[in-house]
Amino acid sequence: MLRRTKIVATLGPATDDPKILDKLIEAGVDVARLNFSHDRYEIHAKRAEAARERSQAHGRHIGVIVDLQGPKIRIGKFKSGPVTLAEGDKFIIDASHPLDAGTTERVGTTYKSLPQDVSRGSTLLLDDGRISLWVDKVEGSEIICRVVNGGELDNNKGINRQGGGLSAAALTDKDREDIKSAVKIQADYLAISFPRSAADVEEARKLFHAAGGKGGIIAKIERAEAVQNIEEIIKASDVIMIARGDLAVEIGDAAVPPIQKRIIHMARRMNKVVITATQMMESMIENQVPTRAEVSDVANAVLDGTDAVMLSAETARGKYPVAAVAAMDRVCRVAEQQEEATHSQHRMDQTFRHVDEAIAMATMYTANHLPVRAIAALTESGSTPLWMSRISSNVPIYALTSHVGTRRKVTLYRGVYPVAFETTTSDHAEVNRAAIDELRRRGSVRDGDMVIITKGDLTGVLGGTNAMKIATVGNLPDF
Ligand code: PGA
Ligand code: MN
Repeated sequence: MLRRTKIVATLGPATDDPKILDKLIEAGVDVARLNFSHDRYEIHAKRAEAARERSQAHGRHIGVIVDLQGPKIRIGKFKSGPVTLAEGDKFIIDASHPLDAGTTERVGTTYKSLPQDVSRGSTLLLDDGRISLWVDKVEGSEIICRVVNGGELDNNKGINRQGGGLSAAALTDKDREDIKSAVKIQADYLAISFPRSAADVEEARKLFHAAGGKGGIIAKIERAEAVQNIEEIIKASDVIMIARGDLAVEIGDAAVPPIQKRIIHMARRMNKVVITATQMMESMIENQVPTRAEVSDVANAVLDGTDAVMLSAETARGKYPVAAVAAMDRVCRVAEQQEEATHSQHRMDQTFRHVDEAIAMATMYTANHLPVRAIAALTESGSTPLWMSRISSNVPIYALTSHVGTRRKVTLYRGVYPVAFETTTSDHAEVNRAAIDELRRRGSVRDGDMVIITKGDLTGVLGGTNAMKIATVGNLPDF
């Protein structure tokens, strides 16, 4: 059985060994994420190239996500290594303090406007919330705090404000440069960090397209404001990432699980793709097996309806990157077989605006109610398989397309598998036969299997799917 849920793995030093990368691809990575918070462009470009080259060698397609750093606010460095803060200590974050000269009393910050964005009573969370500071007063560039939860504080750790409300724009100067790098890498997706609104997402899309980018836009939901504006952000994006790391710091960890469920549900209903991210297999950075809680977390994301689950440090700099992918693969496969993951009442009560959307729905209804082995969706842009994949099912959806960009894009869609397919004829019977032959050649169908083929008038135009054909393999009269 094919796994329907897709696995996104962040590439990093731990996956640079070609042998490890090969094993990672064999273990089933569908999409590679390049985290632009770390490393230089040249390193990312090499990783993207290696991932594509190796997956091609395995007869597979891999999607590539360039994930921008965004306005992640950080403290500066300490003069002599990490400092230890104890409960009740006074500690100053000083926007005019040199970035490389922190002490046990004060440290600089990368965000010069931080003093304007906080006031007495604000809580600042450092290092993903491990350390919390209560703001006593703000004097000029100095934010004078009391330590609430202490601990060791290392260089360049992140700062979040509890409840959100930092005014930093979503796209930094570095992000604007990195968008050009994403175009050079031919990123299939560009992920925007810390967007507050649809306008932030639209601005990134404009810049990406103006620079020649062809991929989709991922909005990372990791700010309190993004949760408030969730509907307009989903509308403006192609993909939503539930970025639980920063999100939990901003809105509180307990608020994340219900929001995860709500966002997955909304995204699917709005025909958008969704990735569940961060700490899914966190303990595997150090251990060969996941915890029971991590296994449940991945399974629950699958049952919630996520398209993809994501690994961050587990693969980028963990000790067991291949085992982490294998564990996810194993958990997803079982969760997907549960009844709630294979049946659907989705959009039964809705009307559709497009012919191709209606064909997609009719196909899935039929596939779920007849013994159908496979769906062959002949597609240009991938929109018909996207609509199909919003409906829960256990029938595989093969996206047959001549466009490599489309094949890479659909690597993220749950239950959709890319297949290279060229048609030179506009004769319907011949095209149907060629499509079925391709699936048979791949071992995806056998004689006697029922298959649904969807396609347009074969003029190569986008959004043209207007036909659905139910056929039996090995038994194709002229149609
Ligand atoms: P990051 O985003 O890994 O780039 O911080 C994901 C998250 O915040 O969960
Ligand atoms: Mn984040």
